[in-house]
Amino acid sequence: MGLVRMVRPWHERLIVWGSDINELAPEVDEAMATQVARQLVGDPELEIDLISANTWTVNTACTTKMQAGRVFIKGDAAHWHPPSNGMSSNTSIQDSFNLAWTLAAVVKGQAEAGLLDSYTAERAPVAKQIVTRANQSIGEFGPIFDALGMTGGTDIDQIKAGMAARIDATPEAAAQRAALRDAIVFKKYEFDAHSVEMNQRDKSGAVVTDGQMEPAFELDAELHYQPTTWPGARLPHVWVIDHDSGAQVSTLVDAINSRRPAWASENTVLGPFHITGTPEYEMGTNIFFDHKGEDMVVRGRVLDVDGTPLEGVKIDVWQAIDDRFYDVQPKGIQPDFNLRGVFRTGADGSYWFKAVRPRFYPIPADGPVGQLLKDLGCHPYRRAHLHYIVTKDGYDEVMTHIFDPDDLYIDSDAVFGVKKSLIAEFVKVEDPKRIADVGFSGPNYWDIEFDFVLAPKS
Ligand SMILES: Cc1cc2nc3c(=O)[nH]c(=O)nc-3n(C[C@H](O)[C@H](O)[C@H](O)COP(=O)(O)OP(=O)(O)OC[C@H]3O[C@@H](n4cnc5c(N)ncnc54)[C@H](O)[C@@H]3O)c2cc1C
Repeated sequence: MGLVRMVRPWHERLIVWGSDINELAPEVDEAMATQVARQLVGDPELEIDLISANTWTVNTACTTKMQAGRVFIKGDAAHWHPPSNGMSSNTSIQDSFNLAWTLAAVVKGQAEAGLLDSYTAERAPVAKQIVTRANQSIGEFGPIFDALGMTGGTDIDQIKAGMAARIDATPEAAAQRAALRDAIVFKKYEFDAHSVEMNQRDKSGAVVTDGQMEPAFELDAELHYQPTTWPGARLPHVWVIDHDSGAQVSTLVDAINSRRPAWASENTVLGPFHITGTPEYEMGTNIFFDHKGEDMVVRGRVLDVDGTPLEGVKIDVWQAIDDRFYDVQPKGIQPDFNLRGVFRTGADGSYWFKAVRPRFYPIPADGPVGQLLKDLGCHPYRRAHLHYIVTKDGYDEVMTHIFDPDDLYIDSDAVFGVKKSLIAEFVKVEDPKRIADVGFSGPNYWDIEFDFVLAPKS
């Protein structure tokens, strides 16, 4: 039994052929390599050009130091492990990327030489992690070999008999087949374990947190990617693909173009239902012109990053009605500008208005997007939210949502727009005095307090 892997289509291959580990390592010359290749391909006449040959064994080695003075190592020079989990190229590229930007920053005088220490601090733990994982994975072939009766030794007849026994009509063979099925299911773990890499978090002097605790992993960290914007983690993003050109843009482009201090309000998707010309109202106006749904007051302040209230900030809000459509969807069914309004903050930076509690709604799913969602096994629902565009001269525009925390689609917004910092608190008010003060007449209303923090334009 051997392994043939393609190096270049279609004429350059790598062949792996086992040898008895208890014997001396074999001498691999052209004659032996040709004989192995002929046997594996099944062509006794096959001619080969041998590029190189060497003996190889599974390695478990990684460096603890990626740098000595002006010399750096990376990739296969720094971590030796079996190919299980397929982490070799990726890790080599990640090493290169990490080293490239740190070196460039130091060479260009943008950073002190100390930045180079972050290379070992960040990459040596990754080297250890992947070497450990790849070796664990190769060890996890054990139950398959056991189930096939390959319990060591090189006696070909015994190996063949062990494998053949599984097709017998005996209780032992049935048990062997069950063990083989279990072993294959167990091995599936390796093929699903992409989060070995996705969840890597850099920790070094180059990574500055704002004091937030590192988020703990809630599920198996090798199987389940846990997106987080905690510094040092892979920045989460989704791909947005232009329908006509097929061009791909990552939401990282937005995250990178809208970089703000951690405590400034975050952006999320605009959505297709914003319109211009929405009337500006007095503070406290009810922008809901229909008569169904649950009353709601939204209030808060707009501050700068130092906590100073900002006056004259334009707040443009819009949302879907309780039965899940926007006023323009299509126009004419609801009153014009239903659930839309523009407000301007007062001297204390505050704003408030009345509306109706939003609910989840489906995005239009009768075209290619619907088909795509169906093919992916995804639903079309957006988690309940209100839209905001918050603007003031000299500050970064915030185009965002605030989300209902108790929504049915809490973890599966169809457009991946939810960010933790944008989840508001919806508090039910039943105090008759407060209900009367805000001008409602029902038995209760929902109170949402949400502040926005604007970062200065960079
Ligand atoms: C057949 C095969 C299949 C593979 N399949 C996968 C896979 O599916 N997934 C995966 O993740 N990985 C796979 N790998 C592993 C992956 O290819 C390597 O992990 C990766 O290429 C290592 O990159 P590297 O830059 O660290 O080293 P290399 O790609 O080995 O690059 C090192 C370079 O340095 C050059 N060099 C060496 N000595 C000197 C010198 N003294 N002076 C100047 N240059 C020198 C070499 O010529 C070479 O170009 C596979 C490898 C092989 C051989």
